[in-house]
Amino acid sequence: MAVKIDKKIKGYSVLTPEDKAREAAAAIPVASVPRETVEKETPQDNIIQMHERIERPEVLIGSTYKIKSPLVEHAMYVTINDIVLNAGTEHELRRPFEIFVNSKSMEHFQWIVALTRIMSAVFRKGGDVTFLVDEMKAVFDPRGGYFKAGGVYMPSLVAELGAIVEEHMKSIGLIHDPEMSAHQRAILAEKRKQYEDRAKKNSDVTETVTAAPAAPAQGAAEDIAVTGDGASFPPSATLCHKCSTKALVIMDGCATCLNCGYSKCG
Ligand SMILES: [Zn+2]
Repeated sequence: MAVKIDKKIKGYSVLTPEDKAREAAAAIPVASVPRETVEKETPQDNIIQMHERIERPEVLIGSTYKIKSPLVEHAMYVTINDIVLNAGTEHELRRPFEIFVNSKSMEHFQWIVALTRIMSAVFRKGGDVTFLVDEMKAVFDPRGGYFKAGGVYMPSLVAELGAIVEEHMKSIGLIHDPEMSAHQRAILAEKRKQYEDRAKKNSDVTETVTAAPAAPAQGAAEDIAVTGDGASFPPSATLCHKCSTKALVIMDGCATCLNCGYSKCG
């Protein structure tokens, strides 16, 4: 629409789409809305989120885990204390607040103090802290890792600390495990029974016990110290690279993990 300007232009401003929307909104008479609706629609800002300025309560609840590693002479005790935010409300959230490691062993003292202080600081900063688990579990010791009881491979002491933090975060509901379905578990139990029955038959008859096939990286894992008896899986089982557990057996020409169900034929 053309407009003829017959006065001097003293100033101008650009009309944005937002201005137009505001004008339109102002034109509509405000209908009264029930208070409940407004409360429901307005984001609640009284939910407390984890923040570094949150003061440490006098008392915190926590758990202490024991690590027995062949890399350290004495056992290590890992304590993780949690803070409960918005207790008693639907937004109740339990989060790790601090971590301590105690041991008679002094050889790892300085880096453990540094690591746990930094981890505690990360916990208190808030946000997603579960990334610590992946970072730590990926650390490997160039001198070699070790097997824990049950045949789970730990590539380093830091990785074991990471596994403990993971276990703790699962127990307080911060990390959710993709649960294996009952059906999957039943299949695994069946496979395991088959394997054990066959192994028993073979050892009864001759010496041709089904030899455990070499896992792809067995060479690299040869000088790994073994702790625990690993009795939960057949002793001939090799390391599964998906779940880092000594639970991989060969059945009908397929490598099958009796722990996580990983399977590869070839
Ligand atoms: Zn596996």
